[in-house]
Amino acid sequence: MVAALVYSEKYLQHKPSWGHPERPERLKAIVEGLKRAKLWASPNVRVVEPKPAKREDIELAHAADYVSLVEKLSAVERPIDGDTPVRKNTFELALLAAGGTIEAGRIVMSGRVKNSFALVRPPGHHAARARGGGFCYFNNIAVMVQSMKREFKLRRIFVIDWDAHHGNGSQDIFYEDPSVLYMSLHQHPLTLYPGTGFVDEIGAGEGEGYTVNAPMEPGSGNAEYAAVMQEIFVPLCEQFKPELFAVSAGFDAHADDPLTSLQLSTEAYGWLAGLVLEQAERWCRSKTVFLLEGGYNLEALSGGVVNIVKAMTGEKFSPPTEVRRPKIIDEIKQALSKKWNL
Ligand SMILES: [Zn+2]
Repeated sequence: MVAALVYSEKYLQHKPSWGHPERPERLKAIVEGLKRAKLWASPNVRVVEPKPAKREDIELAHAADYVSLVEKLSAVERPIDGDTPVRKNTFELALLAAGGTIEAGRIVMSGRVKNSFALVRPPGHHAARARGGGFCYFNNIAVMVQSMKREFKLRRIFVIDWDAHHGNGSQDIFYEDPSVLYMSLHQHPLTLYPGTGFVDEIGAGEGEGYTVNAPMEPGSGNAEYAAVMQEIFVPLCEQFKPELFAVSAGFDAHADDPLTSLQLSTEAYGWLAGLVLEQAERWCRSKTVFLLEGGYNLEALSGGVVNIVKAMTGEKFSPPTEVRRPKIIDEIKQALSKKWNL
């Protein structure tokens, strides 16, 4: 069994605007880093070319009117917001990013590979059902999860999002859906875009208890993340028993990221990935899909991706030697006490 990377050179054609941090150089640095580490098209790592998502796939996660809006904005190059410019090719490339993520899900679900990493742009986790923003047009992970639910009749998917920004779009799409447990670790919403992801946002209706937010104080790093993963993530897995893991892998919680104030090390990404893969091995024959969200320091970004791919191919990373328990852990347990025994 091998790992797969889903990638197309076309993803480099997404150029939001001059000086925009979500730039093609991000993916170039990742591919160069993987080639240097001999993890690109090696015997253990297959590289797969994506196809664009169909409109009907996108509409599993987005309102039809919003999909048409992105298409129209693309034709006239009008932005979604100040952070999210739209070019002639944006619609087409956003379809290809979502399509790449679907492919990453399908090759894992069909058993062709053990796990996969969708190296796609533009990113997706800020795109809500009827609204884009924060560099995002279509929510790649949500489109993939919805497609896998339809194609493989899945009932329990664990989405973990460790991008430094809260995945407000993913939360919005799955807020009332008990088949998707969405957990996000992000910098505290009072200190960073998009200003959501407080502990008391826990889902609604049938989905109550299936949204889990861990807002991390600025300055938090390996020691605090380790505590949250051990005390919240692991027991959630044990009780939810996922059939698939999907990871919104952002790399902007790294200490060197220019946009945020968190302190993860490059090694932390190998360890975090290892922890997810360990749970996946336990509950769903290793089925795990990673996908690229943010991360704006090129060295931290490529180093973090390399460590995840190493973990995907079996390399073990030691957890941090120091664990520091942030007080938010008790608040999360309290907020979720009706649903989970944490
Ligand atoms: Zn981010």
